[in-house]
Amino acid sequence: MRIVVPAGGVGGARFLRGLRAALGTDAPTPGDQTTDSAITVIGNTGDDITLFGLRICPDLDTVMYTLGGGINEEQGWGRADETFTVKEELAAYGMRPTWFGLGDRDTATHIVRAQMLAAGYPLSAVTEALCERWRPGVRLLPMTDDQVETHVVVDDGDGRRAIHFQEWWIRHRAALPAERIVSVGVESAKPAPGVLDAIAEADAVILPPSNPVVSVGSVLGVPGIREALVDKTVVGVSPIIGGAPVRGMADACLTAIGVQTSAAAVAEHLGADLLDGWLVDEADADTRVEGIEVRSRPLYMSDPAATEAIARAAVDLAVELSKERR
Ligand code: GDP
Ligand code: CA
Repeated sequence: MRIVVPAGGVGGARFLRGLRAALGTDAPTPGDQTTDSAITVIGNTGDDITLFGLRICPDLDTVMYTLGGGINEEQGWGRADETFTVKEELAAYGMRPTWFGLGDRDTATHIVRAQMLAAGYPLSAVTEALCERWRPGVRLLPMTDDQVETHVVVDDGDGRRAIHFQEWWIRHRAALPAERIVSVGVESAKPAPGVLDAIAEADAVILPPSNPVVSVGSVLGVPGIREALVDKTVVGVSPIIGGAPVRGMADACLTAIGVQTSAAAVAEHLGADLLDGWLVDEADADTRVEGIEVRSRPLYMSDPAATEAIARAAVDLAVELSKERR
């Protein structure tokens, strides 16, 4: 069974580990990056940022490290056994910004990427090269090779300005009220090589519990991707439980785009043309959305077994709904 997963970082990566287990493709093999992989991930690159001359792709790296066994498990992002000497030395030179958690091990990844990009390789080729080390057991594609960056329009009293999503999220902890979230450059972006083919060949599409605005929303915003996905059987896992994001600050993003923080409102926002099925938590069992098959079950990714069970439920619902479609 071939499954396509548009994913962000932390929530997306945790879910993907469960999905990989549910599909029995847990043991990474040397064939990882071939098109035979059961799972193709379309990774969000809207969080990407250039700092100190390095191109940093937080969501692609979080997926790669999590599935490749290099992640800081408690934190959910960044490398295990990380040190921050480079960050301290940069600060000693007065280099800005100081709010980005640039680890030493992580920096090596960004140096490889920067060097390959400077040599003319597209991001998709760079990602493939990085995955040769990490062997994530999925095919990891960036949503686009073009530069698309999420910016947030804020008004902090000094007037209205747009700041990079990372500055809003990390430096300001999403506490500055956002007037608008803009995907800069998305209009002219093209899906990365392999993305539309993977969708065309997929038996099902699963939306993981990633941020519905700045992760899944960014991927869907690339012209051509959402249009290709609507032809498929699509099942989503709600990132909202009982009217609140489970971890993180997704509510601030939803508020900025005028969507309520509820499992039903997120499904409506994604749209009944896109979503065939929607998994919600037992706390939201009374959720009804016109045109979408809603099922409830426990949705906390509390440990690998619970996460695998959620992934299996999503796959089962996709199989059931795709039979109905035929
Ligand atoms: P990303 O969007 O994948 O980069 O990861 P984030 O961690 O930024 O966002 C994940 C989204 O999934 C947030 O809206 C969280 O509330 C949600 N989430 C996090 N953990 C869980 C979980 O255990 N279960 C469910 N259903 N949602 C979760
Ligand atoms: Ca993210």
